[in-house]
Amino acid sequence: MTLHSNRSLLDIDRDHLIHPVTSFRGHEAHGALLLESGKGMWLKDLEGKELLDAFAGLWCVNVGYGQDSIAEVAAEQMRRLPYATGYFHFGSEPAVRLAQKLVDLSPEGLDHVYFTLGGSDAVDSAIRYITHYYNAIGKPEKKQCIALERGYHGSSSTGAGLTALANFHRGFDLPLRWQHHIASPYPYRSDLEGDDAAIIARSVQELKDKVAALGADKVAAFFCEPIQGSGGVIVPPVGWLKAMRETCTQLDILFVTDEVITGFGRTGPMFACEAEGVTPDLMTLAKGLTAGYVPMGALLMSGKVYEGIANGAAPEVAIGHGATYSGHPVSAAVGLEVLRLYTDGGILANGQKVAARFDAGMAGLVDHPMVGDTRGRGLLGAIELVADKGTKARFDPGLKLADRLFAKAYDNGVIFRAFADNIIGLAPALCASDGEMDEIFARIAKTLDDLLEEADIRAALG
Ligand code: PLP
Repeated sequence: MTLHSNRSLLDIDRDHLIHPVTSFRGHEAHGALLLESGKGMWLKDLEGKELLDAFAGLWCVNVGYGQDSIAEVAAEQMRRLPYATGYFHFGSEPAVRLAQKLVDLSPEGLDHVYFTLGGSDAVDSAIRYITHYYNAIGKPEKKQCIALERGYHGSSSTGAGLTALANFHRGFDLPLRWQHHIASPYPYRSDLEGDDAAIIARSVQELKDKVAALGADKVAAFFCEPIQGSGGVIVPPVGWLKAMRETCTQLDILFVTDEVITGFGRTGPMFACEAEGVTPDLMTLAKGLTAGYVPMGALLMSGKVYEGIANGAAPEVAIGHGATYSGHPVSAAVGLEVLRLYTDGGILANGQKVAARFDAGMAGLVDHPMVGDTRGRGLLGAIELVADKGTKARFDPGLKLADRLFAKAYDNGVIFRAFADNIIGLAPALCASDGEMDEIFARIAKTLDDLLEEADIRAALG
């Protein structure tokens, strides 16, 4: 990997900027990869190196970089009204119109929208409102929450406890005592691989068992991503989401889908829930909502939860949950333009079309000696590398394969997420052309071939 020659910026970064989810000492040793500009699927770093972005930034720049109309809308809104609080009954037209659009686009029954600053804040808001809801309806003992192992629900002081990734708990005194997890429906690593119905039945049973163990009258909600993103792009069998929804209804617990990654066409339809005809009680959104151009998230709420909260509160007493930037007019204006690009601008339809090339690219890698599994839905996918295809044994962590994979891919001009357990996470923007999609996979294939040339990696293969 080439190092940037712009020392002063890198030194300032090293000395003063704390990067998210980064080892402090590791960052001091490696320094930053500073990006300079982007257009469509392409990024340019400070050295002028061109990179194909197969990860849409951080699963968010779904419309690609450099969309002028978004910049124009943001500038226009900043000139007209850069800020309006949502407190004290104030508001602004973009926030109202965006709320309407989200209600129109989302599954029937999600009629109320609370705007947040991003995904963590949307999950946190869900937890706050769920707590308030059960107190308001006179069931204050219903407070336990269940989520999935390998799940990611952000990094807030409570949401990070629903997240089930070790480094989000370690040293942070998480999970909290009311936060619980059941196994991830991970077909490739399941003893039930190939039997979708059995994988679904097992998840259903685990949820029932967990609720029974905690006490049916004590459990508030089950949180899940329709496809687990940061846990390694774990794709449950078709029908899993619907079965979990039905189980939550039976058990009288709220069903919360975290569509921060899967929303806005990432898996094909506008929302992943749609594919299974599922309406959650609450739904969290962010990332693709503003395609990463400005920060914003949203919590969508069903009438049942909204009415429970409304009926339980004294009419003129404010419900104490809010933020200065909730419903920010510039973010909302950007969100409206991004939604227009998905729909009238044809980007959602393009994503659905180019998904065939994405699938073909994945299929082309199946026989590679290092590839154990390829999986995905729409333009969200993973390639899992293994040392032994037969036993599915992982590579020895001492090889530091994920770091080498990322570095080699960077040299080859493609970036993706290289998870610690050697899973390549892919989430290219929905605006990719067929040619760009083919090029992404050509560069990934070259990266894997280059790694295979390295003696220790070749020797590690079973
Ligand atoms: N939920 C899911 C499913 C996510 O993938 C993420 C971020 O990756 C979050 C929540 C947190 O969102 P944010 O990073 O915007 O706070």
